[in-house]
Amino acid sequence: MASVPPQNIQCPLGVPSLALASPLLPFGPNRTKIICPACRLPTSTSTSVTPKASAWLSCLLICIFGCWCGCCLIPCCLQSFNIVHHRCPNCDTYLGQYRS
Ligand SMILES: [Zn+2]
Repeated sequence: MASVPPQNIQCPLGVPSLALASPLLPFGPNRTKIICPACRLPTSTSTSVTPKASAWLSCLLICIFGCWCGCCLIPCCLQSFNIVHHRCPNCDTYLGQYRS
């Protein structure tokens, strides 16, 4: 006779688990005031800009069509071709990005 294990394990339903990492925050192109989810300090994000792959592609296309005297760098200067990365200046945690 095999004994049946007791089935009265209580699941903690209804207890919301608080996620430390916040969902994607709506960052804009400029520094944003936030409370950092990592160090929990109120701060303004530090931003850095990198060009999207499409910016380099546009540079290449402009070069191919003959505008190689500096015009090819125009897409790298346009905000719509850039990605703005937001980091916490206190703990350097990556917080999110803005793509226009
Ligand atoms: Zn932080």
